[in-house]
Amino acid sequence: MATKGKIDPRERDMNVPKEQTVAIFRQKGGPLSVEKAPVQKPQKGEALVHVIYSGVCHTDLHAMLGDWPLDNKLPLIGGHEGAGVVVQLGPGADEYVKVGDRVGIKWLADSCLKCDQCRRGHEPNCSQAQCSGFTMDGSFQQYAIASARHLTPIPDSLDLETASPLLCAGVTVYRAVKEARLTPGETVAIVGAGGGLGHLAVQYAVNAGYRVIAIDSGAEKEKLARSLGAEAFVDFAKEKDLVQAVKDTTADKQGPSAAIVAASGGKAYEQALDYLRPRGTLVAVGLPPDTNIQANVFFTVFKALHIVGSYVGNRQDAIESLDIAGRGKVKVIHKTVGLSSLPDIYDQMHAGKIAGRIVLDLDK
Ligand SMILES: [Zn+2]
Ligand SMILES: [Zn+2]
Repeated sequence: MATKGKIDPRERDMNVPKEQTVAIFRQKGGPLSVEKAPVQKPQKGEALVHVIYSGVCHTDLHAMLGDWPLDNKLPLIGGHEGAGVVVQLGPGADEYVKVGDRVGIKWLADSCLKCDQCRRGHEPNCSQAQCSGFTMDGSFQQYAIASARHLTPIPDSLDLETASPLLCAGVTVYRAVKEARLTPGETVAIVGAGGGLGHLAVQYAVNAGYRVIAIDSGAEKEKLARSLGAEAFVDFAKEKDLVQAVKDTTADKQGPSAAIVAASGGKAYEQALDYLRPRGTLVAVGLPPDTNIQANVFFTVFKALHIVGSYVGNRQDAIESLDIAGRGKVKVIHKTVGLSSLPDIYDQMHAGKIAGRIVLDLDK
C-alpha cells in the first residue's frame, strides 16, 4: 500500500511576498550569488510556483561554466528539479493546474505540443523547447514562473523533498531504462550505479523486471547498489579486464543485453560496446564534455548493436517515474542543505566530491 508522503506546512501557505531569495549568475563562469530579487507575475499560460525544495543537478554547474555547445539565458537563475505548490495563475493556466496543486519543475520547461516531435511524444526534441534553469529561470528561487502545461503533478504519496531529485535524475534514468527496450529477465549493465543518476537507474530497472549488473568503484557503492537490487557488481578501478569481468557475470558469458552509461567518463562508452551481447543496446545518458563514441563499424554491424541517446523524458515519463517512487519502489539517496550553500556545493561538485544527490531547502 502506498504511504502518504509527509505534508510540509509551507505547502498550505498561498501568500505571495513581493521579494524572495534567488541564486543567480550574470556571466559565463559565475560567480554565483545568493541574493534578494522581486517575485514575478505569471503571464498567459504560466503559473507561479512556490518552490520549497530543489535538487541540484550536475547540468546546473555545466550551465554556469558554459560547458555545453548551447546558449543559455543571462543572467540566469538555474535549477530544474523544483518541487513546490502553485500559488498564482496567469490567464489560461487553469486549464492545466490550480492554486494549491503540488507540482514539479523539470528540465523541459515547455514545448509547443503541436509539432511532429511533440505529437509523437518526443517533447524534449521540440524545436521550440524551453529548459528550466537554462533558457529560462529555474528552481533556485523561492517563487518560480513556469509554463503550466509542462508542470508535473506530484502524487500525494511523495513528499516534496523526495520528489525534487526525481524531476531530472529520476525522469532521465526512467526514460533511459525504457530506451534499452528490454523484456523482463534480460540483463542491463548500469555504469555509475552508485551515483546520483545510477542509483535511481538500478531501482527503475529492477522495478521493470530487469537483472542489473552495477558498474562503479568502491565498497560503499557496491553495498548501495546491491542493497537496491543489483545482482552483480563490477569494480572498474579493480578489474584489469573490465569487459571480460562484465561478460563473466552473465550465465552464458555473452554479456548484458543493454548498458546504460550514467557516468561522465568517455571510456565507459567504448567498454560497453565491447561487453554488450549481440543485438545489445548502448544507452548514452552521461555527458562527458567534448567526447566522441568510437564504435568499430565491423563489430557494430556484425553484432547488430544499437547505440541510442536518451535525453530527459516527456510529461508522461515524468508522471510515471514519480508514480513508481510514490509506490515505494524507488529510494532517493540525498542530502538536504540550504540555498545559501549552493556556491559551496558547486565547488564540491567541481572537485568530484558529491556522493548521491543534493537537495536545497529554499527557505534555509
Ligand atoms: Zn538535470
Ligand atoms: Zn513541439
